[in-house]
Amino acid sequence: MSTQNEDQTPALKYKRIVAKIGTNVLTAGTDRLNMELMADLAAQVAALRKQGAELIVVTSGAIATGRHRLGMSDRKDRKDIPFRQVLAAVGQTDLMQAYQEIFARHDITIAQTLLTRRDLADRVGYLNARNTLLAMLDLGVVPIVNENDVVAVDEIEGAKIGDNDNLSAFVANLVDADLLAILTDIGGLFSADPRVQPAAELIPRVETIDEEIEALAGGTTGHGVGGMATKIQAARLATGGGTDVFIASGREADALKRLAHGEALGTHFPAAVDRMESRKRWMLAALSVKGDIVVDDGASKVLREKEASLLPAGIQKVEGVFSRGETVAIVDGRGNRIACGITNYSSEEIQRIRGLHSDKIEEVLGHHYGSEVLHRNNMVLL
Ligand code: GLU
Repeated sequence: MSTQNEDQTPALKYKRIVAKIGTNVLTAGTDRLNMELMADLAAQVAALRKQGAELIVVTSGAIATGRHRLGMSDRKDRKDIPFRQVLAAVGQTDLMQAYQEIFARHDITIAQTLLTRRDLADRVGYLNARNTLLAMLDLGVVPIVNENDVVAVDEIEGAKIGDNDNLSAFVANLVDADLLAILTDIGGLFSADPRVQPAAELIPRVETIDEEIEALAGGTTGHGVGGMATKIQAARLATGGGTDVFIASGREADALKRLAHGEALGTHFPAAVDRMESRKRWMLAALSVKGDIVVDDGASKVLREKEASLLPAGIQKVEGVFSRGETVAIVDGRGNRIACGITNYSSEEIQRIRGLHSDKIEEVLGHHYGSEVLHRNNMVLL
């Protein structure tokens, strides 16, 4: 009975979930996609969505699929970058076709979303990717993300094109995910490589990713405990952005569902910070200040003491040339920096509305982006 089933379904612990699926999970270790495994994954996604979860899939498997399509499964030795990029381009269509087929069974529409990390490092690219992904979730579409390997050359180190572990963490941060589930064939972080040392023990929880953990994962060389280095990097990135991370076995039955319901599988890396704090830090670290907004004593006081938004009324002067969306500093009459943040108005617009009541913005500019020149959500006090 469906009502009985519903009663038995545990509540969701996480609402917005990024699921990163490794090549070895998708192929079950063979040279081609395993449709049964993929169908099982889609069924889990469908069940979680019915419970109200939002899902984004970050998938690997394009290169492996392309290799198979071109009949080159026995050429694993050939690793040169252009060749792998061709494989990725060829395989991506087959990969998407497979996803389309398995999700159609649940009436779920998917969207191919190819990203490069370079796009996300850029302010406008970041905002566009974030807005698009959030719009997909709003429309009930499941984004199927992969790195745009064809143009990802400048990300390459050695013979590896990008890596989807780090990409999945960028995506988790981009959409403020609650959970990043890195599903792999290893099943977590172990005290030694479980493929070589059967006595290796699973580490169920990693509170802080310190040198010891990094060493266990093989540092940056990637020769660690089962390709864990990039997974640990991803865990560090995502937990630093306020997302809970699990590295768990994608072969375990219902792994994604169980994680979403709060079951501890594999290795848990609890979120290291509050999400809002991380946004603020990101804003400070990643962006350079394009200009100054000088405010009067009254504004300076409420900004400092009440963490209020900055309204045009308190602005005396604007220095520098900047556009809407750029980072600016808020400076008091004595030249002290009080705060930094993302501006809703350009320097030219602020020039025209400074000192005015917010009601006048539309009248003066002919348009308006809100009463605040800088919203407190996009601001960090210094
Ligand atoms: N983008 C690659 C692919 O789809 C995978 C990269 C990775 O797994 O780290 O084949």
